[in-house]
Amino acid sequence: MVVDLHTHTTASDGGLSPVDLIARAKARGVELLSITDHDTVGAYADLPVEATDGIAIVPGIELSCTWSGVNIHVLGLGIDLSQANLIKELETQRLRRGQRAEVIAQKLEKLGIKGVFEGASRLAKGRAIGRPDFAKYMVEAGYVSSMNAAFDKYLGSGKVGDVKAVWPEMSEVVAWITEAGGVAVVAHPTQYKMTNAKLRRMLDAFKAAGGQGLEISNGKPPLVELRYLRQLCKEYGFEASMGSDFHNPTTWLDVGCNMSNLGDCQPVWQRWSN
Ligand code: AMP
Ligand code: MN
Ligand code: MN
Ligand code: MN
Repeated sequence: MVVDLHTHTTASDGGLSPVDLIARAKARGVELLSITDHDTVGAYADLPVEATDGIAIVPGIELSCTWSGVNIHVLGLGIDLSQANLIKELETQRLRRGQRAEVIAQKLEKLGIKGVFEGASRLAKGRAIGRPDFAKYMVEAGYVSSMNAAFDKYLGSGKVGDVKAVWPEMSEVVAWITEAGGVAVVAHPTQYKMTNAKLRRMLDAFKAAGGQGLEISNGKPPLVELRYLRQLCKEYGFEASMGSDFHNPTTWLDVGCNMSNLGDCQPVWQRWSN
């Protein structure tokens, strides 16, 4: 079975509408798909029934949180989209994103980047503002030459625009997911610039909070990374997840996973396939 349990749409910072993303996934042979937009389940609203014909959809989300001063992403898979507490917390996440955008804008303005809040707001087209909107504006206004340069210089981990104080604790978002009937999965564990020892401490805390899954394959991982994450997955007794982290057809890896990446781990998608 071909799965993809980590994808983005125009409901957050992806380039395809939910309907177009699902069509692309089907065309590429994906049989089980989760749309995991940043801090929103907006993609699942008003999905036409015929769009999901011939593909199984696992309701999901990618939540922003912090652990020990690091901005961590936790996937919630198989969540009940109508659970009242989850809906309430996601509204708070939306407000936090708004507050964070104001702080990021103030910091960038101080560095001489003009009109940055208005620019990012315009590019966000009414959805919650993310760092990619700031990056796009800085490219458009000529402050940097590329999105990568914007993240390297201003928005990436440890840079002035990496404002994370607003996010909830990792243990809290794990609880929201679990209480909404979902399974919490650490997204892209190797992208946090942590030492191996710190990553293990984070996984200990994640497991203690009720987290059950590890994303062993995000995009196209190098073999050495894949082996390391499979090892951690088995050692901690986590269920393995895999996803492309697809954002758009031009600058990102395409939808669908290389299923051989699973190795001998226990797949989280066994929960939804039979
Ligand atoms: P946010 O969710 O607002 O914190 O923004 C984080 C998002 O920025 C990630 O999910 C990526 O989609 C995007 N991102 C991170 N680094 C880069 C980069 N170097 N170039 C383009 N987009 C990036
Ligand atoms: Mn993103
Ligand atoms: Mn992420
Ligand atoms: Mn993602």
